[in-house]
Amino acid sequence: MSDSSTSKPGSPAAGPAPHGGRDATLAVHAGRDPQAHGGAVNTPVYHVSTVLFPNLEAIENIPRMQGRRMRYGRRGTPTSWAFTDAVTALERGHDAVAVPSGVSAISVALLAFVQAGDHVLVADSVYGPTRILCNGLLKRFGVETTYYDPRIGAGIAALIRPNTRVVYMESPGSLTFEVQDVPAIAAAARAAGAVPVIDNTWGAGLVLKPLTLGCAVSLQAATKYLVGHSDAMLGVIVADEATFPAIRDMAGDLGLAAGPDDLYLGTRGIRTLDVRMRQHQATGIALAQWLAARPEVARVLHPALSDDPGHALWARDFTGACGLFGCELKPLPHAALAALLDGLRYFGMGYSWGGFESLVIPAHPEGQRSVVPWQSAGPLLRFHAGLEAVEDLIADLDAGFARAAAIPA
Ligand SMILES: *Cc1c(COP(=O)(O)O)cnc(C)c1O
Repeated sequence: MSDSSTSKPGSPAAGPAPHGGRDATLAVHAGRDPQAHGGAVNTPVYHVSTVLFPNLEAIENIPRMQGRRMRYGRRGTPTSWAFTDAVTALERGHDAVAVPSGVSAISVALLAFVQAGDHVLVADSVYGPTRILCNGLLKRFGVETTYYDPRIGAGIAALIRPNTRVVYMESPGSLTFEVQDVPAIAAAARAAGAVPVIDNTWGAGLVLKPLTLGCAVSLQAATKYLVGHSDAMLGVIVADEATFPAIRDMAGDLGLAAGPDDLYLGTRGIRTLDVRMRQHQATGIALAQWLAARPEVARVLHPALSDDPGHALWARDFTGACGLFGCELKPLPHAALAALLDGLRYFGMGYSWGGFESLVIPAHPEGQRSVVPWQSAGPLLRFHAGLEAVEDLIADLDAGFARAAAIPA
């Protein structure tokens, strides 16, 4: 396992931080160096714009400054390095850049590699704002996007053109949960000289390791599981050695600097990520199985269920699941759907996911597809399994179905 965070020259480390080990251990130790901060267990929050240099020689030497010395707030602080080092270790990357949101991570990861006349391939199941970026900004600057069936696998090779610069994946899709053949798609991209990029928010850098499966760049909405408490916006892009300079420079050119308090919350979230994910996974699977057995449910979209179309790929490439999955209901009156959702006690209705609390939203993928139309007779719900007791969550949903059944058709 490569862990670049052990060997950063000029790190403020007084001595080598304890690294290596399994993910649960990395989540606790990576990016942390108490003796460099007076013994504090957590890297402090550096609120910095101006950095003062001790003398003329030091300030004249900025361009030749080696490694990690603070030079200006936007260029990184111990608070940002703690976060990026921890994510880099978990994702098995070379290095990472933190940005103010997941969408800014997506923007950087695409803009880093394209120019006018180029072409990108993007999964049809992609997060909605990624499509907006491709169809808007990228198109306006002369970059063409072709969407592809997320289940295309090695067949992606037929869509790659001489000017294809990026093959963009998201697995599973965060509304429709198709699992992609990441190694096959990444290999085809690399063979054609394109950069394989993936949105790894569902995997949280924990249960999917895209850089070990051939991807060059793995980004996350750290807003979700890394922050983990629904109280900060944050993005991160992890890259391999060959692509990291382009990612770093694009984030720098765009002037994207994540705020210190948000970075701190991201790092603090990582400390409990492994144990939280285990519970999100267990509760999510339990809810998915309970829903799959309900007469009101047409199908459940969760790759950990053995009859899910993506199950074999998920079992091959993932080491687990998060708490996000979908559920298509059989057709029901809109008033019945409202009765189901409006009276829920523990499931909040709201966007985002990855926090400690359970969520449900109505999902409408039909307007966000251009290659594989989304078809369902009844409404699609997206659930996030939080950290509540699963019995209480099941009772909440059970009461919801009873309310829906009481509404006349
Ligand atoms: C939420 C989300 C994003 C965007 O993250 P923000 O922090 O909200 O900008 C990107 N990708 C996926 C899959 C998401 O769910």
